Amino acid sequence: MNNIVAIVGRPNVGKSTFFNRLIQRRDAIVDSVSGVTRDRNYGKSEWNGKSFSVIDTGGYIKGSEDIFEAEIRRQVELAIDEADAILFVVDVEEGITPMDDEVAKLLRKVEKPVLLVINKVDNAMRAADAVEFYSLGLGEYFTISGMNGSGTGELLDKLVEVLPELPEVEEENPLPKFTVVGRPNAGKSSFINALIGEDRFVVTDIAGTTRDAIDTTYNRFGFEFKLVDTAGIRRKAKVKEDLEFYSVMRSVRAIEHSDVCILMIDATRGFESQDQNIFWLAQKNRKGVVILVNKWDLIEKDTMTSKQYEAIIRKEIEPFTDVPILFVSALTKQRLLKALEAAVKVYENRSQRIATSKFNEMMLPIIEHTPPPAIKGKYIKIKYCMQLPTPTPQFVFFANLPQYVKEPYKRFIENKLRENYDFSGVPIDIYFRQK
Ligand code: GDP
Ligand code: GDP
Repeated sequence: MNNIVAIVGRPNVGKSTFFNRLIQRRDAIVDSVSGVTRDRNYGKSEWNGKSFSVIDTGGYIKGSEDIFEAEIRRQVELAIDEADAILFVVDVEEGITPMDDEVAKLLRKVEKPVLLVINKVDNAMRAADAVEFYSLGLGEYFTISGMNGSGTGELLDKLVEVLPELPEVEEENPLPKFTVVGRPNAGKSSFINALIGEDRFVVTDIAGTTRDAIDTTYNRFGFEFKLVDTAGIRRKAKVKEDLEFYSVMRSVRAIEHSDVCILMIDATRGFESQDQNIFWLAQKNRKGVVILVNKWDLIEKDTMTSKQYEAIIRKEIEPFTDVPILFVSALTKQRLLKALEAAVKVYENRSQRIATSKFNEMMLPIIEHTPPPAIKGKYIKIKYCMQLPTPTPQFVFFANLPQYVKEPYKRFIENKLRENYDFSGVPIDIYFRQK
């Protein structure tokens, strides 16, 4: 489980510049594997061996010059609710603006760590100008230049120091952890209610966690599993928040903490950008995914068949299309057992370990038959492969010239792997390394 850090502040202070600097290296690696970059406002970072997730709240309302103060206020409030630490970014060029004052007022009441980050301090002269920000009443501040990187080291030293310690909970017999995610009104609470009923018998709360990501153990239809953060799902927003930012902010912790994400979409609305974003969050975190198209009872079956619908969704989730898609109704309780079975199967797929000898027996003949194309007259030989002992499926192929193996061949290997083993609903990583 990761700490979540939110970057807040008014537009144009340099939040996204700083965010990009924070997540740079890790992301480049992850994204070159999947070949997908969707949400540019969420990423993983690491400093002094401590990893955390970062959300750039401003990234979600980019482009609009006249953002209402109320909107920023709500974003900051949600960040305060959901994040473990907050980086409040201000701009030394502009000085303190009324909106900075507003945000500071909210942050002064917060119990969680808040670090004041004065950006655009590109040189020593500007460092002197930073002093005025003391009047925001947030205490110690950090001067940085998001552009050239100066000052960020000290800031990050402090950040990882104030982040709460997360207990590593080692479970003897881990149960599948599911989370139900999706847009507001997709039917998440209806689904959970239909699945577990109102007579929810609470068995365990996860030990040691101080916040509201609560795992509750259930036993239904012969399956034992945990649901993550149903409290958060049940906690209805006062305002229906149909902005991407809100669904991301509210889903991140539950997704990070689960094994399999049950993504509910509303059949009457189709697969929208928010759904795509949540899907991507799950994929990026290497979680299993099951897509449930809910409210299927409302769809006229002569105008839209499940096959057509499925094809549309698969197009949207490319290239990671090997995902179970089920058509359900939380209202009529249609196919709820199937949905649960699918989630359990994805969990098993994600946990499977393939013996190295069997894996080589399967993959080497395929590779021999279709080797990577030669580059500049050089032949690439893959002699050996194995699954790594990692929590999520990762495979390494040892080659004489791994740097010459290109994306299409990696894709080919992934397809062959998925043809021969059931990794449905599970993101996998494939690496080529020097023997
Ligand atoms: P956001 O709206 O808060 O995400 O701000 P951006 O990251 O988009 O930056 C707004 C503007 O400030 C851009 O023109 C950036 O190039 C500029 N900027 C960001 N960081 C720095 C910095 O450290 N120094 C200077 N001089 N400009 C910066
Ligand atoms: P949540 O915001 O994702 O938790 O969505 P809710 O469970 O509160 O459902 C939103 C609305 O959709 C409610 O009015 C539900 O009664 C309705 N709803 C949920 N599932 C279904 C379904 O399968 N069929 C129909 N017709 N309505 C549904």
